Amino acid sequence: MKLKIDADLFLFDLDGTIYLGDKPIEGSIETLKKLTAMGKKVCFLTNNSSKDKREYLKKISSMGYPVDLWQIVTSTMATIQWLHTRKPGKSVYPIGTPTFIEELKDSAIPISEDADIVLLAFDTTINYEKLWKANILLEKGRDFIATHPDTVCPSDIGDMPDVGAFMALFECACGRAPGVICGKPYSPMAEIIGKLFDIPKERIVMIGDRLYTDILFGINNGYQSTLVLSGETTVEMFNASGVKPTYVLNSVKDMFEEE
Ligand SMILES: [Mg+2]
Repeated sequence: MKLKIDADLFLFDLDGTIYLGDKPIEGSIETLKKLTAMGKKVCFLTNNSSKDKREYLKKISSMGYPVDLWQIVTSTMATIQWLHTRKPGKSVYPIGTPTFIEELKDSAIPISEDADIVLLAFDTTINYEKLWKANILLEKGRDFIATHPDTVCPSDIGDMPDVGAFMALFECACGRAPGVICGKPYSPMAEIIGKLFDIPKERIVMIGDRLYTDILFGINNGYQSTLVLSGETTVEMFNASGVKPTYVLNSVKDMFEEE
C-alpha cells in the first residue's frame, strides 16, 4: 500500500471526514491506524466549541482508533490561546455551553456580565437572556470575537444552527460582526498548531469535507490540503467553487493506493 500524500502531520476534520454522526466512514479507522503505524503524526481538528476534548476522545476511541488527548485540537483551544496572547487579562461575556465555560475558567479567562469582549461559541443551550445581554454589550462597542464561522453543524436528524447563524442574528440586531474568528479557516487555529507541533508548514496536510473551513484553512495557512467527498461537498459544489485543494479524494480510505 502506498501513501499518496507526502506529509508528516495529518490534520483531520471529524464530521463528514472520519465519521458521519455516530458511524465511522468506511475505511477511515484503518487509514488512521496505518498512518500511525508508519510513524506519521495524526491529529483531529474540530471547530465545534460546544464539546470538550474528552468527548471526542471517547467517541473516536469507541470507533476503534485509540486516540490520545494531545491529538485533539478544538476551536476553543485556539480561542483561549488567542485571548491569552492578544487580550491578556480582558474579561469575556461567553455565549457557550457549560462545558465551554468550564474550559474558559480552567484556563483562567476572566468572565463578567459587563465584559470587555463578547465571545460567541457554539451554544446548544442558548436562550433569549444571553442574546439580549450580548447585544447590549455590542451596542456599547465592546469587542466581539467568535470561536468559528460554520453556519450549521450536521446531525443525524437535520442541520443544527451554528455560530455563523448567530453571527447573522447579531448583524441584524446591532450591525456588528466579530472582529476575530479563531477556528478554521482563520490564523488563530494555525497558531495553536504551530505552538503544539514543531513541523514545517509544507509538511502538514489538512484533510476535510468542508471547502470554506477545512480546505481554506490549508490554503490560507500554507499547508497542503485534501478535500474528501464523503461529507458536505459534492463534485458539483467543488467544481463550482473555484477552490483548489492539493488533493481531492472520495474518502480518506483513498489516501492509500495499491502498488
Ligand atoms: Mg466536516
